[in-house]
Amino acid sequence: MVSTVVHRLSGQCRASTGNWPAFTPPCLQELPPTMTDQPDPKSFRPATRLINAGLERTPYGETSEAMFLTSGFVYDSAEQAEGTFTGDVSHYQYTRFGNPTVANLERRLCDLEGAEACALTSTGMGAVSSALLAQVRAGDRVVASRALFGSCHWIVSELLPRYGVETVFVDGGDMAAWKEALSKPTRAVLLESPSNPMLDVLDIRMICDLAHKVGATVVVDNVFATPLYQKPLELGADVVVYSCTKHIDGQGRVLGGAVLGTEKWINEVLRPFQRNTGNSLSPFNAWVMLKSIETLALRVNAMTQNAAKVADFLAEAPGIARVFYPGRKDHPQYELAKKQMAAGSTLVAFEVEGGKAGAFAFMNALRLISISNNLGDARSLVTHPATTTHMKLAPEERARLGITDGAIRFSVGLEDADDLIDDLKRGLAALANR
Ligand SMILES: *Cc1c(COP(=O)(O)O)cnc(C)c1O
Repeated sequence: MVSTVVHRLSGQCRASTGNWPAFTPPCLQELPPTMTDQPDPKSFRPATRLINAGLERTPYGETSEAMFLTSGFVYDSAEQAEGTFTGDVSHYQYTRFGNPTVANLERRLCDLEGAEACALTSTGMGAVSSALLAQVRAGDRVVASRALFGSCHWIVSELLPRYGVETVFVDGGDMAAWKEALSKPTRAVLLESPSNPMLDVLDIRMICDLAHKVGATVVVDNVFATPLYQKPLELGADVVVYSCTKHIDGQGRVLGGAVLGTEKWINEVLRPFQRNTGNSLSPFNAWVMLKSIETLALRVNAMTQNAAKVADFLAEAPGIARVFYPGRKDHPQYELAKKQMAAGSTLVAFEVEGGKAGAFAFMNALRLISISNNLGDARSLVTHPATTTHMKLAPEERARLGITDGAIRFSVGLEDADDLIDDLKRGLAALANR
């Protein structure tokens, strides 16, 4: 790895002399001595690997990962360019195809997920759409869980049928319906667990077993669980997708997505589609996320502790009809959540009494918690799914998903939990005084 970087950098150095004083840092002239006593990176524990996995320093020895904010790369010779295009030479070609900063984040996410390969995309929807469109063709069949992020639902219900793909939705917890839907040849299965916004938990292993019997590739959208709390690949999934916009950036700055799977599937199925349709991540966004991933575990663990505390508070509060939190015993799939997830979630859903008017009064009284449809942020955010993220669904479809007019989705942030509870009390007071 080091030798290819040196080679690339020395190529750039030579090309940049021109009218400038000759500058060839000594470190570019020869390879640094190989350090043979380095511990095996795989022997490090997860928190250490969030800082170090996939790190590839240039010979300058920078502390932080280098940001290669470049659209293209130059070649030493026409022969080298030719070799790069035939695949005989290992050299970056164009950032839509690959970039060292993006590759650095891909390696770190692979390590975190326990996946062989990762492809980063411009957004989370870029990840979901590529993961599906890269594998289906006219005449195929796709089965999806009904409770999906709004745009994922649109891809399955509106876009795929346009290209001649038959799509079937299944109520996530209905195993008989999964069995029925997966009783004929199926190309792909898409599911989300816990689901957005009501935090339904699906039996990933059981669905994967059924799906594999009919030849389907199972794609799991693991945003709500985060790579820390749920390992879909260990539960039998073939592909895992993320909106890195959420917990991975986690500070409301940049958009990004990730698709993870086997080397064969990523390289042979996903990459050709992704590269040729232009769904690639900016190196700048990758660099921002390399910084944020260092604190992923710290943030997600603290946010989850806050979420558990807030869920317990809301469950006892007057005016709150129901609380949905996978880490609470009263969650309908608590036992399953305990089996397949390492911890609850940073999200809590709850239903206030008084329908839409009650929910609006509650949200408008909040002074610390912001109203926003993003999630996974250090800042606490609430949204009213029925009138925002899930407004496009037919009312019957919303009812089926348990998205009532009083339902609120709460993405719990890093603030002091007691300040969050004080703010929720403002909401409760407004609800009571309506
Ligand atoms: C946000 C989100 C997406 C889409 O991600 P973007 O980065 O906004 O494109 C997909 N799935 C789930 C579960 C999400 O929460």
